[in-house]
Amino acid sequence: MEAEIISVGTEIILGQIVNTNAPFLSQQLGKLDITAARQLTVPDQLDLLETAVRTAWQNADLVFVCGGLGPTADDVTLRGVAAALGVRLTRDEDHWAWIRESFRQRQEPMMPENVQQAMYLSGGTTLANPVGLALGSWYERDGRRLIVLPGPPREFTAMVNQEVLPRLKKIVEGERQIVSRTLNFFGRPESLLMDEIAEATGDLHQVVITSYVQPDAIQVRMTVHDLPEATATALLDRAQAAIVAKEEAYFFGVGDDCSLAAQVVELLKQRHLKVTAAESLTGGMFQSTICSVPGASNVFDGGFVTYAASAKERLLGIDPQLIERYGVVSSQTAAQMAEKSRQRLGVAVGIGFTGVAGPDSLEGQPAGTVWVGLSIQGQATMTRQLHLGAYVGRQQIRRQSVQHGLQMIYHALQK
Ligand code: ATP
Ligand code: MG
Repeated sequence: MEAEIISVGTEIILGQIVNTNAPFLSQQLGKLDITAARQLTVPDQLDLLETAVRTAWQNADLVFVCGGLGPTADDVTLRGVAAALGVRLTRDEDHWAWIRESFRQRQEPMMPENVQQAMYLSGGTTLANPVGLALGSWYERDGRRLIVLPGPPREFTAMVNQEVLPRLKKIVEGERQIVSRTLNFFGRPESLLMDEIAEATGDLHQVVITSYVQPDAIQVRMTVHDLPEATATALLDRAQAAIVAKEEAYFFGVGDDCSLAAQVVELLKQRHLKVTAAESLTGGMFQSTICSVPGASNVFDGGFVTYAASAKERLLGIDPQLIERYGVVSSQTAAQMAEKSRQRLGVAVGIGFTGVAGPDSLEGQPAGTVWVGLSIQGQATMTRQLHLGAYVGRQQIRRQSVQHGLQMIYHALQK
């Protein structure tokens, strides 16, 4: 299927905002084996938009038009698309009633122009917007499809995920059988990981393997085309087994929405264990990451942010002489932070982060030098030294430290 994405917005053209919608959509389409080989951005200008849509409608069988569905005068998308397709616009009466009701509830004045957000392309169907006011449109003619979606990324991503992809998946599966699976890794450079994976799966020619770098993971997608589902699934199982055997130290789970934090929370929950932390350079980021997972309250009561040595001494009771002797960025301090936090909270798992976030060095150690300590009840305390590249910058050093800490817990609990 040939797809084209038209992003609408003068602010994108002027460089005032970065277009995140089109790359997001491309990536999601890729999972269905659909490539958007043509991508275009047009300003909020009726004639240019109309021309762009007319051309796309001739060249592609799947056209996306994104942005400009709001109620203001610069939102011209539906008018432009309707003109290009030669169709009229229809008002969805139920949705219009709902818009009026939601303004009444919020006690906000409604503008007559808000009616635009209840319009869709005649002859097509509406796409529900779970987090905003504007409806989307889905239009089909002569085996081609055109989809109109609102611009705000929160609305856009929700509608792509909930409304568009499930429909497209059904269509694609009707045309071509695809079975795929995503594996998640952390802590291995992408090129090295992919080389090793290629080696491990060299005999599985029917499995196509691609990788996507995410902020906190490398996602590896395995896809099998045009084979019966049972055969395809068996092939994916074999590929997964071969890959995980080789990359066990970096692997943390299956699925598109899998995160290390969620995996750790789930493992702790299964084992009825709780975690706490004492954080220096990460300044609470580990605890915040745990709390971002729904259900974190089952496994997390609280913890410590001990940035200065004095806070490590006062809040955790770490011996000043230990810090004096080994330094604040040391295996010993990280171990003590993990142990003391665990003991103070009376929980099974304690983790300590101490290191140099940079840009300046500390105690003669360069930015990116980090020690993580992990104390688990009944086990010897572990520590790990990280050498994160100083060039990645302060925030990435902190963020990667958190992910390494999560990885340590994940592997310790797997055993
Ligand atoms: P609204 O009702 O908010 O006006 P809309 O559907 O008309 O919604 P736009 O006016 O195109 O959407 O964009 C609204 C805001 O959404 C923009 O100011 C911008 O912040 C964001 N946005 C729009 N398009 C994109 C995009 N392609 N990538 C990232 N952000 C976008
Ligand atoms: Mg707008």
